[in-house]
Amino acid sequence: MVKTLEQNKHIEFYPIRDILIGVPSEDVATHDAVNPHLSLGYEPPKIEGFPLFGQIQIQTIEFCNLKCDFCPNHYMIWDRLEGKKKGIPYNIMSIENYTKIVKNLADLNFTGRVSPYLMNEPLMDKDRMVEIIGITRKYLPKNPIKINTNGTGLTTELLGDMIDAGLTSIQIDDYFDDRYATKLLKQLEPFQGVNGKCFITLSSNYNVTQMKKGMSKDSHFGPFTFWNRGGLTNVNPDMPVPQKDCHFPSSQMYIKWNGDALLCCCDWEYKVIHGNVINERIEDVWINDSYTHYRETLKKGQRDKLRMCRKCNKGAFPSEEKRLEHLREWLKENETD
Ligand code: SF4
Ligand code: SF4
Repeated sequence: MVKTLEQNKHIEFYPIRDILIGVPSEDVATHDAVNPHLSLGYEPPKIEGFPLFGQIQIQTIEFCNLKCDFCPNHYMIWDRLEGKKKGIPYNIMSIENYTKIVKNLADLNFTGRVSPYLMNEPLMDKDRMVEIIGITRKYLPKNPIKINTNGTGLTTELLGDMIDAGLTSIQIDDYFDDRYATKLLKQLEPFQGVNGKCFITLSSNYNVTQMKKGMSKDSHFGPFTFWNRGGLTNVNPDMPVPQKDCHFPSSQMYIKWNGDALLCCCDWEYKVIHGNVINERIEDVWINDSYTHYRETLKKGQRDKLRMCRKCNKGAFPSEEKRLEHLREWLKENETD
């Protein structure tokens, strides 16, 4: 049986469903060390007076091998698989362009987190991932480097190589049952406890996937995953769009494989493109009119005036505490073995 957070109270990263496998050291075992840009004291460099983002996600390959119902990939995947069958390779960012972006970040004295994935499974790019992490570490020697993976491509050897190349944090989202989780835990054994280098968390999403069984097409995933990704998924359709700010366009940058700067990590259909960081400098794109328009309109709480945001329920819960409260109640009522 997989250990639950209740049995592993060392730290609660994302309470309820995560277990912490390893940490670099006891003194840095805090959420802030993984996400410094979310901590109160974080001060990013400024571009013409406006703070630079604290996190950047860069899509190195445009594919994920799963099709979770609550994720737009569940319908996007079919065209991509069709293309692959016809011999069309998945779209990738070249190493040259990736390096260009990372060098640009170094020029800006960027101190935030780099995540070499966006709306894709990073280990679909496993043949290049160690190199990609190494390039990031070379030009950004102190920045946190984090990936979230569904774990299907993970091996002990690959994780060791990624950590040696500079990976500082990995969250493994497990969508399968205990048998699968046990296999994953076995692979993670060498990195358990204080491992000197990397935060490793294993997040069980099994309840989320099981919940869908026997449900109608009008899915309601409960509070596990309430976010409808800009209205692209039919998740919790009874939850109204909150007419309030969203920090994503002000605090994070999201780069597609071809260098396009996208609205956020739910823009799977690439509906809102602010600019292109291969053709232009990152800092020029970050403060351009398109970004500014989204930030200012969101700040006024006018999601209804913005493409994507007008259908997005992100932030519908008044606070993280409220969501967790709701989640605990929901779990009590819907306990599974
Ligand atoms: S939630 Fe993650 S693992 Fe699931 S389909 Fe989306 S990108 Fe893939
Ligand atoms: S409100 Fe807009 S920017 Fe924020 S997550 Fe939704 S679609 Fe993205």
